Amino acid sequence: MEDYKGKVAVITGGASGIGFGIALALGQKGCNIVITDINVKAGKAAEIKLNEEGIKASFIEHDISNENSWDTAIEMIKLKFSEVHYLFNNAGIVNRAVPLNKMIIKDWQWVLGVNLWGPLFGLRKFTELMDGQAVQGRIITTASTAAVAPFSKWAAYSVSKAAVVRLVENYQAEANLYKKDKVKYSVVMPGVVETNIFNSELNRPSEYANSDVPPKEIIAKGAGTAEGDTAGKISVEKAVERILKQIDYGYTYIYTHRDLTAMLIIEQASAMLLNKAPVDQLVVDYAYYAKKMQR
Ligand code: NAD
Repeated sequence: MEDYKGKVAVITGGASGIGFGIALALGQKGCNIVITDINVKAGKAAEIKLNEEGIKASFIEHDISNENSWDTAIEMIKLKFSEVHYLFNNAGIVNRAVPLNKMIIKDWQWVLGVNLWGPLFGLRKFTELMDGQAVQGRIITTASTAAVAPFSKWAAYSVSKAAVVRLVENYQAEANLYKKDKVKYSVVMPGVVETNIFNSELNRPSEYANSDVPPKEIIAKGAGTAEGDTAGKISVEKAVERILKQIDYGYTYIYTHRDLTAMLIIEQASAMLLNKAPVDQLVVDYAYYAKKMQR
């Protein structure tokens, strides 16, 4: 079991959704929390909410796709804490659903910039930081079930998350090869969790704007409704409980919908080995598997 009391956890994308849920849960266990986020308004509001719960939490403005922004954030963290025990390399975005031939290069640049370069900077910077500390650290990076098989209309997201899984695996593999045990690496592959992620387009930076398609707010139906249940959607609290339990077990691969993700991994692996058509997560009957397999 991890003992979070008195430790320091940095959580990117901590202003909302799974990141905020982790901040709350760890803060309640006595951990010192640093949330970072590109959304300053939401970040400051999250800091106040956490403080009101009696949690020692502070917010830092941070764009994970920008290397200098990581350096600035780390300098600010070092002013406050001599050691960091956990990095939750969590922030991410989803672009609008669009077929490959309708995607513009700015769609790819925005998604890969945040979802691939963001975690890569986090792994590089915090591995270096934690390697130099006396205590051991853990870096828990968030990918997605979208990583394990193609996903029509969400190609950039699926590609970015597949790359993140392999990135974390390479970090852990090299740590094993060179017998470096200062940092333990994990990758989280959530299924559908009730968060604000489908509204990422509303905060898309202007340099990546797609003027053809103005973003519209999406009001998603929650866990427990027919629409929410279709993909086995679960609440942030449930997802965080599952993630923290697997961190306690010391797992490298962490799931929120283990059986659903396992089914996709097996079907995709069999497609590769038997030369069948790749699995398309857009048309997979999630409802069937979610009901049957969700644990
Ligand atoms: P969310 O939108 O509720 O939270 C993501 C946070 O990241 C937001 O506060 C946002 O402002 C922040 N962010 C966006 N771009 C950023 C940037 N460039 N720099 C710093 N912060 C930035 O979404 P969530 O669902 O909690 O997402 C957390 C992680 O979980 C993401 O990596 C996402 O891909 C992954 N995930 C989510 C689901 C799901 O169903 N919700 C499923 C699989 C994976």
